Amino acid sequence: MNSKCDKYQKMIPDFFEDELEEGDLSEFLDHIASCKTCRDELSFQYLLYDGLSMLESGASFDLEKEVNNETGAARKRLIRRQRAVLVAAALEIITLATALVTGYVYITRMLL
Ligand SMILES: [Zn+2]
Repeated sequence: MNSKCDKYQKMIPDFFEDELEEGDLSEFLDHIASCKTCRDELSFQYLLYDGLSMLESGASFDLEKEVNNETGAARKRLIRRQRAVLVAAALEIITLATALVTGYVYITRMLL
C-alpha cells in the first residue's frame, strides 16, 4: 500500500459520516474511482459500518452496488455544494458590479 492510499483510507470513516471537506472529498472520490485497493477497503469498511445491520435484517444485499450508491450520492452532494459556491460567487460579483455602477452614476452626477 503506498502512502497516498494510506491517506485516503484514513478518510473512509469521515467519508461515511459525510465529514470530509469539499477538496478532500473530491480527491477522495477521484482516488477511489481509480484505485482498486482503496475501493476494496471502502467496501470492507462499508460492510462494517452499514452492511452488518442490513445482513442481520435479512435484506438482500449487493455490496458493490451499495458502495457505488454511496460514492455516487457523495459525488452528487459535492457537485451540488460546488454549484452553491458558484452561485454565491456570482451573486457577489453582481453585488459588486451594482455597487460599481451605482458609484459611477453617483460620481458622474456630482461632476455634471
Ligand atoms: Zn488507493
